[in-house]
Amino acid sequence: MNELELVKRIAAMAGGGRGLVVGIGDDCAVYRPPRGHDLLFTTDQMIEGVHFRPGMPAQRVGQRALARSLSDIAAMGGIPRLCLVALALPRAKSGRWAEAFYRGLLGLAKRVRTPLAGGDLAHDDKVRCDVTVCGSVERGKALRRDGARPGDLIYVSGALGRRWDRPIRPRLALGRKLVGAATSCIDLSDGISLDLHRLCAASGVAAELDSVPVAKGSTLERALHGGEDYELLFTLPPPARAPRGASRVGRIVRGVPGRVTFRGHALKPRGYDHFRGTDFSR
Ligand SMILES: [Mg+2]
Repeated sequence: MNELELVKRIAAMAGGGRGLVVGIGDDCAVYRPPRGHDLLFTTDQMIEGVHFRPGMPAQRVGQRALARSLSDIAAMGGIPRLCLVALALPRAKSGRWAEAFYRGLLGLAKRVRTPLAGGDLAHDDKVRCDVTVCGSVERGKALRRDGARPGDLIYVSGALGRRWDRPIRPRLALGRKLVGAATSCIDLSDGISLDLHRLCAASGVAAELDSVPVAKGSTLERALHGGEDYELLFTLPPPARAPRGASRVGRIVRGVPGRVTFRGHALKPRGYDHFRGTDFSR
């Protein structure tokens, strides 16, 4: 398939959405935001051999590439509005592989009403894609990681430490519920030990963690330090009841900003760090 044919196929699959005035086919997409909303922007790369194992089915790669960015929109309490996809791939993958990639990505995009509004295709020796998602949230209401206060209770959705390559379900509905209720929120992409440290550092507070929900078949070590969970970690002022499916894992306290303890012992932020290397073993 040549580039033009592939673009035509993608455009036919892309669909439209509310507010999208001009989609694929012009120099830029045109989007008209809802009145009284702030816009959210996030971008995430997926590189073969870095973010996914070579040989991962194309449809799964596409689904995952979009889901990671949607998780960031969920963490800010936003509604995803449109996405842009830049994809580079070897010539051998420009046919069926590319089509399956877009099928995976656009299947999820349709489910969460986030039309593909544009993108770019290029040739490279391995697959690299970059997905940008634009979302929106009521003005001034975005959930941020710098709002946690001493006394707030810490919650996490779902269970932690699952296999890195399981399908991601971005917690968009939960993020929306937390708008106006949570004092801070972050999505768990690099492990709770590192992401909670980030949230506390941004908020100028410390945290006491006393339990974490460990996924079936996983270990406490993985639940604390493994990445790619894509659950939401958030704080609510007391007295708070956990939203459905979420569990309380600790509390925010005064202390050295960013310091986290687990059952009374210092917890080092040991989650995933790109400059330390890739681990596909779990
Ligand atoms: Mg994030």
